Amino acid sequence: MPSDGTLPAGNGIVQLPTTSNLRLQSNPWQNHNPDSYEDLQSEFTPLLFSSLERYLPQNLLNAPRGTKHKYMREILRRYSNEGDRNRVQKHREYRERITSNYQPLYRSLYELNATTFFVPSFINAFMVNDNNRDERIKSIMSQPAPGVYAFDMLQPRFCEMLLAEVENFEKWICETNFKIMRPNTMNKFGAVLDDFGMDSMLDNLMEDFIRHISKLFFSDVGGYALDSHHGFVIQYGFNRDTDLGFHVDDSEVTLNVCLGKQFSGGELYFRGVRCDKHMNAEALPEEIFDYSHVPGHAIIHRGRHRRGARPTTAGQRVNLLLWCRSSVFRELRKHQTDFVSWCGECQQKMRERVHQAVTAKRVKLFRGQEESAS
Ligand SMILES: [Zn+2]
Repeated sequence: MPSDGTLPAGNGIVQLPTTSNLRLQSNPWQNHNPDSYEDLQSEFTPLLFSSLERYLPQNLLNAPRGTKHKYMREILRRYSNEGDRNRVQKHREYRERITSNYQPLYRSLYELNATTFFVPSFINAFMVNDNNRDERIKSIMSQPAPGVYAFDMLQPRFCEMLLAEVENFEKWICETNFKIMRPNTMNKFGAVLDDFGMDSMLDNLMEDFIRHISKLFFSDVGGYALDSHHGFVIQYGFNRDTDLGFHVDDSEVTLNVCLGKQFSGGELYFRGVRCDKHMNAEALPEEIFDYSHVPGHAIIHRGRHRRGARPTTAGQRVNLLLWCRSSVFRELRKHQTDFVSWCGECQQKMRERVHQAVTAKRVKLFRGQEESAS
């Protein structure tokens, strides 16, 4: 029996180790093709299991799916306490209350359909999975500032329909007096699309499209292993939120698409990416950047890219937000002390350390030369 307590056996049966021995590998099995857990019900999202599977100990990789599911679920449970699990259960009931009563205006919005949702340039970049896909994705993107990528994404008709669907949902809330949860602590208006049935459509959007972009540009924050999302719309203007203070998102990667309507103002101001420790550090001149929204156009950036939204001074502005998260990245982050690959301040501190080391070395060498000359 191996020292870690797992028992590899014939006929595909792998005995589960005792709870204290549950463990994952620190590096993923890159060539392992994980199972799908879509049809298995548990308190955790199925995508999480597919992502985590690459980190299983070798003797479990080809175990029956049920065995792997049970093993990973035990690990995940150790990280979520009972309070969290109750909250998840309550939230599931809340969603069920909405979806069993709300009548959608456009059912076609609830299932991802690339040809009716996206502009042709966007579809063409992703549709064929060949060696040139990365290059095609890069070719539809502009990078107006470091770490911020912009591209044309949604068809005008899709934007109109989604706006109408959200208005229909809000009308239903008013009529039925239903108490809804707002998208986050900073927006008093807006709606969580996941809560009224768009969860799986947005999961597909993340899986089939956003994941490929994130892998290219944001692999340093887990862009290669996005496994859950929070999808919502926010509304700015008269009788709505006016602006949004300086903040970061609870996401690894954020997709932000303007749906319309007509508006003035509402620009986003960016101030560089920071880790928790350096959240309040000054922005460097090259990190200061303003972005003006265009309906149908998207930007994508790291969730920890500090920013805010200026007041929408006229009309109404509605944006679709998709916060994409990686449980693997969050787990790995706990074991790191600096974030040189993505935090502007950690990078600055490292440059200073290198500079000091070089200076010290030079002084030492110089002294050595002086001594040998004397
Ligand atoms: Zn930092």
